[in-house]
Amino acid sequence: MSQETALQVKNLRVSYMTGDQQVKAVDDVSFSLYPGERLGIVGESGSGKTTLAMALMRLHKPPAYIMGGEAILDGRDILSLGRDQMRQTRWSKLSLIPQGSMNSLNPVIKIKHQMADAIEAHERGWTRGQIAKHIGELLGRVGLPDSVAEMYPHELSGGMKQRVCIALAIILEPSVIIADEPTSALDVVVQRVVMQTLNDVQEQLNAAMIIIGHDMGLMAQSADRLAVMYAGKMVEVSPIASFFKDPQHPYSKLLISSLPSPEEKRELAGIPGSQPSLLDLPSGCAFHPRCPLVVERCTGEIPLLRDFSGDRRAACHLVEEQSS
Ligand code: SF4
Repeated sequence: MSQETALQVKNLRVSYMTGDQQVKAVDDVSFSLYPGERLGIVGESGSGKTTLAMALMRLHKPPAYIMGGEAILDGRDILSLGRDQMRQTRWSKLSLIPQGSMNSLNPVIKIKHQMADAIEAHERGWTRGQIAKHIGELLGRVGLPDSVAEMYPHELSGGMKQRVCIALAIILEPSVIIADEPTSALDVVVQRVVMQTLNDVQEQLNAAMIIIGHDMGLMAQSADRLAVMYAGKMVEVSPIASFFKDPQHPYSKLLISSLPSPEEKRELAGIPGSQPSLLDLPSGCAFHPRCPLVVERCTGEIPLLRDFSGDRRAACHLVEEQSS
């Protein structure tokens, strides 16, 4: 029997249409997210991570268009819901902490009114007293005192504003949370604390969470599984411990060898070259011009993301040949 999923994404394709050109920003991406799990998604900027998040929330804007695929949540394909149904689904079943979210708080509206607006938009029929109580509880959950409800965003530190954004994301207790670079604008110490708060509330709700970012240290601290994106495709998906111990895709190996290790003194290796333009992708495997292990087959044939060992998947001809 297949395992129950919180979200199942199948063959998602999102393109930017520029003139008569189609730029494939998310190219045939499929993955499952299980209840209560944290899936990290890493990749260089332009690899498609944020486009993927915005498309799943249906908050992408032209020239970005969903060209195909499904995203099954609660037995329904959210990519085919009507606008009103999607508005009701957003925040109550699937919520987003967007990139730079703390700057999205309205500076001239008190925190309590911004939180109340989010509840009232979903017509729960709650009284003012119930809303005020819920706001107080949510602020407590993210480690903020009740007094924050009466404050304006400019009176809060960056870390406090980000906690308010986490409270907003869980205001209707969704089963899936997408956090896009949730700590990127914060200093390192505050980053760890805010990330811990996010992990704690996700656990309390038993929500599944997608964490998008590029900080491998934060991923190692938080994620249960890691997915690596390159040029719009997922190229490796692995449980976090196996990923760090034994990365399989050559790009994953380079990502790890570019990290400092507290146990081992070694030269940090950079990743040669740069990510290709999506407008002009190399033939075959898009990583082949940068890959130290490239073979002839790589230049002509696109590798598919395949299972290679238990719960691990990679899109690389060499991994496929070694495991067959
Ligand atoms: Fe490198 Fe070839 Fe694997 Fe691509 S398919 S990552 S070029 S070995």
